[in-house]
Amino acid sequence: MPNERQLTLDEACREIAQLQIDRRIDYIIVHHSWEPSAVDFIGIETVASIGRTHARWWPIRNDHGYHVQFGPSGEVFFCCPFEKVGAHAKGFNSRSIGVAYIADFGGGPTERRALDNPATYTGLAAGQLVVAALCERFGLDEEDVDFHSDYSSKTCPGTLMDKYEYRQAVARFMDGGVKVVVLTGDARRDFVIATSPRKDEWQELFGDREHIVLDAYKHLDDQSKVYIRKGGE
Ligand SMILES: [Zn+2]
Repeated sequence: MPNERQLTLDEACREIAQLQIDRRIDYIIVHHSWEPSAVDFIGIETVASIGRTHARWWPIRNDHGYHVQFGPSGEVFFCCPFEKVGAHAKGFNSRSIGVAYIADFGGGPTERRALDNPATYTGLAAGQLVVAALCERFGLDEEDVDFHSDYSSKTCPGTLMDKYEYRQAVARFMDGGVKVVVLTGDARRDFVIATSPRKDEWQELFGDREHIVLDAYKHLDDQSKVYIRKGGE
């Protein structure tokens, strides 16, 4: 039975850093869900419905096809256990981990485009951060992050996605510096990614942690300030 659960970015990165699995992982494969897309997303129920569909398609396997799914506002869901071979890229599942954005990045129907576009999809970077954590855990680099379309005639994860930009973003999260993701939460476009140019400043504020995930409350209009909260200490 599929058993999806939602985690914060910080929790997800920590669990990944401590993963112990017997399976050899050579690459991470990125997907989009296509249907349902970002406009259909209502939370973990959307993820669970995808899991039920996969379980119906592959009854012997009876699990979610992807290992991780990402929601439009940076939500992270662990789906199929990492030690279990997924069902997301035919012929290439045994040595890979499959991650999927709940989105249609294929330039679909007009009413979808605002939400289902990597340029404005605020959860894109959250996924890249998790993919970077997976790469670090399994000793991979950004060149080992592939798109489903590399292994199939499908266009997944959508024609609007650029693999080289995606890999570069993953690499930025693996560069060994202090990395900060600020989720403002009040508007999808206000998701801010900062790789601090002043490492000493961030370290003074937040200590030596490799990944810091914060909540932020934006009061730019009334106070010209962004309030940030230290993640998980
Ligand atoms: Zn795919």
